[in-house]
Amino acid sequence: MFPADPAKVLANARKAETEDLLDRVTVFREVMEPFAVEIIEAELARRGVTPDDIAQHHRRLKPRILRDAQGIPLRCCRCGRAAVVAVSDWHRLLGLLPLFRRRFAYCDRHRPDQFALPESSPPL
Ligand SMILES: [Zn+2]
Repeated sequence: MFPADPAKVLANARKAETEDLLDRVTVFREVMEPFAVEIIEAELARRGVTPDDIAQHHRRLKPRILRDAQGIPLRCCRCGRAAVVAVSDWHRLLGLLPLFRRRFAYCDRHRPDQFALPESSPPL
């Protein structure tokens, strides 16, 4: 799921968006290697993100995340962030030919339009 090599984890963390890193050290913390959590927390600190910011991100996201039957948080099928919406849609061969229906999970950024938050919703 994540690189097992600390140097790769660090290189990956440096390139990742802050929101993505926040998802990893909160929602996905339980499925990550402890050393990877430490590296990502250090990267967040380097960017000026405080432990309070991390806790706030977790409080906001935790009640909304989707989990599989084993309780593992689902990932967005487009970017790998924490998924908050699941939609049944066609799995398509080469993106065109419909083969079978399956569930697709999406993060807030990639959720299909019909599940978009109203304009008046607070920013996520
Ligand atoms: Zn996404």
